[in-house]
Amino acid sequence: MCGIVGYTGPREAYPVVIKGLKRLEYRGYDSTGVALLNGTVKVYKKKGRVAELEEYAVGKELHAHTGIGHTRWATHGEPSDRNAHPHTSRSGKLAMIHNGIIENYVQLKKDLVNKGYHFTSDTDTEVLLNFIEDIKENNNCGLEEAIRIALKRVTGAYCILLINEDDPGTIIAARKGSPLVIGVGKGEHFLGSDASPMLEYTKEVVYVNDYELAIVKPDELILKNLGNEKITPFITKLDMDLAAIEMGGYDHFMLKEIFEQPSTIHDCLRGRLDATAGTITMSGVQNNIEAFKTAQRIIIVACGTSWHAGLVAEYVIEELCRIPVEVEYASEFRYRNPVINKGDIIIAISQSGETADTLVAIEKAKEQGAVIFGIVNAVGSSIARLSNGGAYTHAGPEIGVASTKAFTGQLAVLTMMALKIAKEKGTITDERYSKLLFELDSIPEKVEAILKGANAIKAIAEKYKGAADALFLGRGYNFPIALEGALKLKEISYIHAEGYPAAEMKHGPIALVTEILPVVFVATKDSYHEKIVSNIQEIKARKGKVIAIISEGDDVIPSLADDVFFVPPADEIMAPLLSCIPLQLLSYYVGIAKGVDVDKPRNLAKSVTVE
Ligand code: GLU
Repeated sequence: MCGIVGYTGPREAYPVVIKGLKRLEYRGYDSTGVALLNGTVKVYKKKGRVAELEEYAVGKELHAHTGIGHTRWATHGEPSDRNAHPHTSRSGKLAMIHNGIIENYVQLKKDLVNKGYHFTSDTDTEVLLNFIEDIKENNNCGLEEAIRIALKRVTGAYCILLINEDDPGTIIAARKGSPLVIGVGKGEHFLGSDASPMLEYTKEVVYVNDYELAIVKPDELILKNLGNEKITPFITKLDMDLAAIEMGGYDHFMLKEIFEQPSTIHDCLRGRLDATAGTITMSGVQNNIEAFKTAQRIIIVACGTSWHAGLVAEYVIEELCRIPVEVEYASEFRYRNPVINKGDIIIAISQSGETADTLVAIEKAKEQGAVIFGIVNAVGSSIARLSNGGAYTHAGPEIGVASTKAFTGQLAVLTMMALKIAKEKGTITDERYSKLLFELDSIPEKVEAILKGANAIKAIAEKYKGAADALFLGRGYNFPIALEGALKLKEISYIHAEGYPAAEMKHGPIALVTEILPVVFVATKDSYHEKIVSNIQEIKARKGKVIAIISEGDDVIPSLADDVFFVPPADEIMAPLLSCIPLQLLSYYVGIAKGVDVDKPRNLAKSVTVE
């Protein structure tokens, strides 16, 4: 959450920073601001989106070759002009932007207030900035040294960028817990929360690690640890192009990303799955194969949509590999002193690879001897770097705040992994293994076929857009998809929705059923199909409106449901990869029908780098 951008070099900084902020807006859109350094520090900031700041800045003094910019997801203080970043220090000489939370800011603020400081915002950020300046003045040291001293005394998470009137051309940056990428150009440097702001200028980037400090000048990049020792920057070549972060003719990133899924799932399988040869090549799994084969337990930690992918994996891994699996919310797992035995495997799932709770959860588990396996989408991200092994989902940058293609990428990776481990462990017959490999291989084609029917989902969305609540029900492999369908609808259309195991609805949620309640059944053909048919009958007996996602060839449910959507037949293990697609489309079309900004829904942001 919060996007940060910086530039220093021969170009005009303002347009570079603004363009970068637009690309990072998915990370937060409560307010936007820039600080430009040209003799003095000039700050322009506004509540709202980048476009509003641009309008506000017209006619202002914008010329500068060094600048920083911020797009905020508020944690401390309401979204407003005065809480917008950048913040300036008491002397007015320093400006700073921040992504994260300074947890001990109350005490620091008290001390500073006692010293006569006044604060103009409610943020933790302004406190940290003045704490730094206070140290600088009292210790009579340089800014770099003051930052080092300050950061040793703060708790929480941060990525900060500072500019200083007394040091033109220099940006000082530091991080712990929140991401920072530095793009290395010829006589210029770019800084960002991810690499998207620098894509057209350079392909050479440095991923800054926790507890590192970067002193960035146009033609020099110095990396140090908090002990003031120099570190050699490790330059990575970016494998991402501009088209991946542009809308490419679609109305919204979310729609583009839904429609990209045949190719993103294909990219995920490509080079790994060879159904004809009967092989799965995943070096991350192979390198840890003994650990997987002998694991007494797998614990999956994740948040949000990734947690739903974890739930699907629980069903698949237990079925195919006969390894007990627990799926944990990272935010709970990290604080509840969990029992982790040596040899337990932790699978961490995160689109961004920066999810704060997941990151800390695996750090703790690693300390206790667990093997960490990361499944992330963002290449080079913190979770990827912290893991003992892992697999990328290869879905490409996901910009829409609601996760779609990253989710199906996660499902594809987890299913492939389970098949590989089962094969190595001998818990699957050759025949079933081969059948499932071919099934998995055909998923991109089947997703393509589902997307061709998008208009039918649009019609269903029109019909139910006025609903105040919705229930999503599924059994077995489709139960997590019911949860995911409900989450998507909540995020994108602001309709209150609940997901439940279909049979469980009798224990409470059925009380909500009236003739205006839409109940979405995820009811593709599986081994307990008749059971879910009974659950549909139970809802119909109470006059609920039933929308059912079913398999082609199902001739029972169409006569019961109010609306049906067919997906191609598949083995029940693969069903989630198909049944989630119409539910993504449903939430998208309901959101559009209601006039919601589906790419940037209310109160949300992507890449949750705060707890
Ligand atoms: N804590 C800071 C604020 O509320 C930064 C928030 C963030 O990184 O999401 O302004």
